[in-house]
Amino acid sequence: MANNLGLEVKPVTETPAEEIERVANWINTEEYKELNFKREALVVMPPHTCQPLGAELVAHAFEGSLPFVHGSQGCASYYRSTLNRHFREPAPAVSDSMTEDGAVFGGQNNLHEGLENCIALYKPKMISIFTSCMPEIIGDDLTAFIKNARNKGLVPDEIPTPYANTPSFNGSHIHGYDAMLLSILQTLTEEKKVDGRCTGKLNLIPGFDANTGNFREYKRIFAEFGIEGVILGDISDVFDSPLDGTYRVYAGGTPLDEAGDSINGKATISLGPWSAAKTFKWVGENYAGKHAAIPMPLGIAKTDAFLMQISELMGKPIPESLKAERGRAVDAMTDAHQYIHGKKFALYGDPDQLLGYISFLLEMGAVPYHILCSKGSKKVAKEIQALLDSSPFGQQGKIYMGKDLWHMRSLLMTDPVDGLIGDTHGKFIARDAGIPLFRFGFPVFDRVNLHRSPIIGYQGAINMLSAICNKFLDIVDETCEERQFEMMR
Ligand code: SF4
Repeated sequence: MANNLGLEVKPVTETPAEEIERVANWINTEEYKELNFKREALVVMPPHTCQPLGAELVAHAFEGSLPFVHGSQGCASYYRSTLNRHFREPAPAVSDSMTEDGAVFGGQNNLHEGLENCIALYKPKMISIFTSCMPEIIGDDLTAFIKNARNKGLVPDEIPTPYANTPSFNGSHIHGYDAMLLSILQTLTEEKKVDGRCTGKLNLIPGFDANTGNFREYKRIFAEFGIEGVILGDISDVFDSPLDGTYRVYAGGTPLDEAGDSINGKATISLGPWSAAKTFKWVGENYAGKHAAIPMPLGIAKTDAFLMQISELMGKPIPESLKAERGRAVDAMTDAHQYIHGKKFALYGDPDQLLGYISFLLEMGAVPYHILCSKGSKKVAKEIQALLDSSPFGQQGKIYMGKDLWHMRSLLMTDPVDGLIGDTHGKFIARDAGIPLFRFGFPVFDRVNLHRSPIIGYQGAINMLSAICNKFLDIVDETCEERQFEMMR
């Protein structure tokens, strides 16, 4: 074998072509699938990321908030580059870059120096601090370190410093998101509760959601209702800011005073029953007004439930404009149902999104077949099963908790489906299985602008439907015989 300089390179081990072919075929078999599912110690391509990445997403989502990673520089680069590649926008964050001496003596000096530097250089209104694996493993005491920084006068009183322990060997990005959001709200609302005061506003906790279009859609729905809403963790302008020649380190985000006053809100809705569970529990115990945690509004039924919940909590009728929108979405679904009805899908992702995808597919008469969640739980499985049981199209669905995309590959190769729903990481197994990948998850690195296209609400249902059905139609056009290449489909 010659390398790119034309020099002969001797492989360390010679593998005969027949052996490569034998193994390539064997990994597609039932026998291999059984062995694959016995795997315990090794995880291959799990469809989740680590806690601090979720923490960083929500740390960006407040006005003037600078995400601060207490830990390794390399980890910080990973979170930033993942967000940056998904949104194709900068993800300005800092790290106190702990190295070997920090690992031995603790990272307090790094944290203090980092705080001084970032305040001097980037002038944040808030510094949202979270951890990578290293300080968690050595047991850094974040509470004491930050208190000491305050006592030393390194952080001015007017700059809040919410912080969260986000150990990556436990949980996933949704748990980091939840922990950081909880700390931000606890910090900003401290001593802000006023007896008898009501902002008259609806607080919305979106949960981990990396679709900026969804956030704009929530705001549009509030406007249709004629209500004022406060999104607690608003990434819409942060990760979808205009290109107008001015670089803004802090573009958009929930205003800090509005977040602080949210504790006096009229009502609070959480759309992340799984990805903001702890935050919602705390909100329920501390916030004024009524509270409700409902599923992400994906598909018709869940959007209906969302709008009815807003109507009930805010005492406003559902606007005619949204009723008309519902009718258009149902019309679009009726027009397109023949292209998706009965088709089998494999899906993977976070619990909140999975429940939404399943609901949408069942409404279309499609079959959610292989359902995989790498950081699921028995409770998540139970909720998914109940959803599947509610529809004749859910009867074939099989749930795989704590499994990864290499397990999913075995499923696709031995028990095929028509399409795969998930994030970019699924493209390799989709290619092996010869099926399309519908990219509705996070992260999406290999397509443009999908994060700008909402998938929540009635408009989101139309968008998901169009993406799926038009892809199936593309495949028909690309693969059919000449005599079946028709104008009408
Ligand atoms: S899992 Fe731990 S070591 Fe790996 S990127 Fe996340 S924080 Fe860093």
